[in-house]
Amino acid sequence: MGINVNKEKCTGCASCQSACPFGLIDIIDDKASIKIEGCTLCGACVEACSFEAIRIEREIAQALFGDDHHGVWVFTEQSKGEIKSVTHELLAKGRELANTLKTDLCAVCLGHHVHKLEEMAFYGADKVYLIDDPVFAGGSEDVYVTELVRLVKQYKPEIVLAGATPFGRSFFPRVAAILNTGLTADCTALDIDADKKLLRQTRPTFGGNIMATIICPVKRPQMATVRPRTFKKNTPDAARKSELIKLDFNKEALTSRTKLLNFVADLSERVKLEDADIIVAGGRGLGKPENFHLIRDLAGALHGAVACSRPPVDEGWLPYSHQVGQTGKTVCPKLYIAVGISGAVQHLAGMQTADCIIAVNDDPDAPIFQVATYGIVGDLFKVVPLLTEKLKSQ
Ligand SMILES: Cc1cc2nc3c(=O)[nH]c(=O)nc-3n(C[C@H](O)[C@H](O)[C@H](O)COP(=O)(O)OP(=O)(O)OC[C@H]3O[C@@H](n4cnc5c(N)ncnc54)[C@H](O)[C@@H]3O)c2cc1C
Repeated sequence: MGINVNKEKCTGCASCQSACPFGLIDIIDDKASIKIEGCTLCGACVEACSFEAIRIEREIAQALFGDDHHGVWVFTEQSKGEIKSVTHELLAKGRELANTLKTDLCAVCLGHHVHKLEEMAFYGADKVYLIDDPVFAGGSEDVYVTELVRLVKQYKPEIVLAGATPFGRSFFPRVAAILNTGLTADCTALDIDADKKLLRQTRPTFGGNIMATIICPVKRPQMATVRPRTFKKNTPDAARKSELIKLDFNKEALTSRTKLLNFVADLSERVKLEDADIIVAGGRGLGKPENFHLIRDLAGALHGAVACSRPPVDEGWLPYSHQVGQTGKTVCPKLYIAVGISGAVQHLAGMQTADCIIAVNDDPDAPIFQVATYGIVGDLFKVVPLLTEKLKSQ
């Protein structure tokens, strides 16, 4: 058992009983008694006990839940056979994690006639598990949930990652719930504690005001979703090879309560910020919507896209599709020019992996300068027209 009550220390005060979110603690003969069935070893009872009478034995728990798990898995998201870019980004981070853990990096692909699967190796995968069947062409989440759960139970990976895309956000938590393990959604950073084999999963929390690093110490696999453009893809290495493992499955046993009737693209999203190599973004420092012509002119001179921080969207100066940041888009262009943007953590969450960041701000202490490759301290109303003019004259 991974959790123990020291009967000598326990006073039967019942504070653990009210702290247990799952109602698994009874007070029997003035002593706490914990039912392990259903216990997630969350530790709420340990914290509630003032007498240090409850102990989670991490090593025992690890042996119970996790020691025979190996490998880092990346769920290969595809649509109509085209692999989504977030898969390649996750393979880059997965490669790092697998190298540290000295284990294999595996891509898991459930699809039908998926193109360019060989590229999984180029981007870092050692193995590709593939189930190819028309049932995975329809986008019905239930069948993905059932099969991924089955594969995880069979192969026991240590870590499983998926994109925080609409599909990943919807089906992946169901996989974690069935496996009775933890999932950290929308991570902005992943790291590994190599000694303890713990995935350190960082994401904004409390309304984005702090960054929390979350671990899943006693359940396996450790699962996380990551927003597209958070990590950079590796440069593909065409010389790399991976083992392709084609798997059978029991199609008759697969049932789905849902059916995808139609896919309607959101045509209001005309700005494809995620794909732009050059982005010029304006913030509250622009002062009023009319001044955004400065941003559009500079973006035009660079053949780039126009973006903004949250205040211009809140003020109705620009549509939401232009917003970059924690509650907007995550972008990773070659060049990001931030004009009149202070560099709040919620904005940085959406753009700090850009290759080159240029900041224009009249406050030399603005936090944006801490992430900027080049900083111009000055009045944007003077600096930006000069830049645009210079670029147009090239
Ligand atoms: C839960 C949550 C989610 C959020 N999500 C996002 C998000 O997705 N994206 C986002 O951007 N924000 C987000 N925010 C808001 C965020 O906290 C900041 O308030 C916002 O990023 C600030 O925008 P800004 O930099 O444009 O404005 P400000 O912080 O007001 O900065 C304006 C800057 O312009 C400079 N400036 C002013 N005049 C001039 C001038 N003439 N020349 C040069 N510089 C000038 C100032 O020095 C200042 O640094 C979120 C907040 C919360 C709580």
